[in-house]
Amino acid sequence: MSTWTAEDERAILASIETWVDKEVRPIARKFDQADEYPHALVEQMKELGLFGATISPEYGGLGLSADTYAKIVIEVASAWMAPSGIFNSHLIMASAVERFGTEAQKREWLPKMASGEFRGGIGLTEPNAGSDLQAIRTVARREGDHYVINGAKTWITNSGNGHGILLLAKTDPESQPRHKGMSLFIAEKGPGFQVSKKMKKLGYRAIDSCELSFDNFRIPTSRLVGGVEGKGFAQIAGGLELGRINVAARGCGIALGALRLALRYAQERSAFGKPISEHQAIQLKLAEMVTKVEASKLLIEQAARKYDAGERCDMEAAMAKFHGSEAGVFCASEAMRIFGGYSYSTEYEIERYYRDAMLMCIGEGTNEILQTIIAKQLVQRGGV
Ligand SMILES: Cc1cc2nc3c(=O)[nH]c(=O)nc-3n(C[C@H](O)[C@H](O)[C@H](O)COP(=O)(O)OP(=O)(O)OC[C@H]3O[C@@H](n4cnc5c(N)ncnc54)[C@H](O)[C@@H]3O)c2cc1C
Repeated sequence: MSTWTAEDERAILASIETWVDKEVRPIARKFDQADEYPHALVEQMKELGLFGATISPEYGGLGLSADTYAKIVIEVASAWMAPSGIFNSHLIMASAVERFGTEAQKREWLPKMASGEFRGGIGLTEPNAGSDLQAIRTVARREGDHYVINGAKTWITNSGNGHGILLLAKTDPESQPRHKGMSLFIAEKGPGFQVSKKMKKLGYRAIDSCELSFDNFRIPTSRLVGGVEGKGFAQIAGGLELGRINVAARGCGIALGALRLALRYAQERSAFGKPISEHQAIQLKLAEMVTKVEASKLLIEQAARKYDAGERCDMEAAMAKFHGSEAGVFCASEAMRIFGGYSYSTEYEIERYYRDAMLMCIGEGTNEILQTIIAKQLVQRGGV
């Protein structure tokens, strides 16, 4: 439960807006085009407390509500989506440790995660398994007071520049049902934990998403989240609710940023003797864009408030993520049309929004999978 007052949260948001304007927006194009990790920005994020945004104050974090956190993410992503990924998967890892870890694990890991001294990510996806996570092949075999891990992961964000990941592995590969044989580990980099390749990406550049391999990677049993095998699948599902609210906010931020750029351009650019914002075809686009942005904000707020109240919010987080990410794709694409030929120039910002937007429909559960979650919940809850 957040202890911040509404006034405090407004002040925090105002300071984030100032930081985004001064430090994030001006460097976005250069770092995106060079696909260069923004080390200086990461240092500033540490000072702002972003790596501990949702971690409880008792473990050194800011203890912000998911609602305020989502608003921060919208603001950052409205200027440049990629940096919000540096603290998102880190905070999913932290959330899983805080919700499901033992007290000793929380005391050991959360303070250094909150300060940014240890920056993490989540290691779920494998070359053969993304949506169907129960098909993963990475195995953790117990040997005395250690586990020995062998396998491979792919697309793991923050794993190149970060210090470790929350690793999903099978502790009982023969288990039926399959999810009962899965466990989560706090995996700090060390011998046997290899970053094999940095992926080249369409968008979401400057942030590292890598292939990893584990070759007899030894990890103490004290790093098994919660200390009990077989709980990993349920634990990661719990952590992903916050992750989906974050991705919803990132999609919404892309939509908002694209709208802001398009609105300004539509008033500056003239065709047939008047600003293009006065042509009805452009007005229809702007109207649909702003409506999608505002609807996304409301869905995000609904999901975040349920999450903050400790209520079940898988359906709400899925709806927010589905709508927010599709709004990002829609608004970036409509903004491209409003910019006309200039949209295609890398000297303008809008093409980056277009390249970044699609990932939001894929990461943290594809929108197809999320729609199945929404529909199943709709039926289970007996309608609306
Ligand atoms: C830039 C980037 C960063 C990423 N970062 C991370 C990270 O930090 N950590 C991590 O673990 N993963 C990460 N991922 C991986 C991402 O989570 C997966 O790509 C995503 O979950 C989809 O899995 P997949 O690619 O294996 O697709 P698949 O699961 O093979 O899906 C392919 C298609 O089939 C559809 N599909 C599959 N099953 C069903 C079904 N039952 N019903 C309907 N449709 C279905 C999917 O919706 C999709 O359209 C990242 C990916 C990218 C591109």
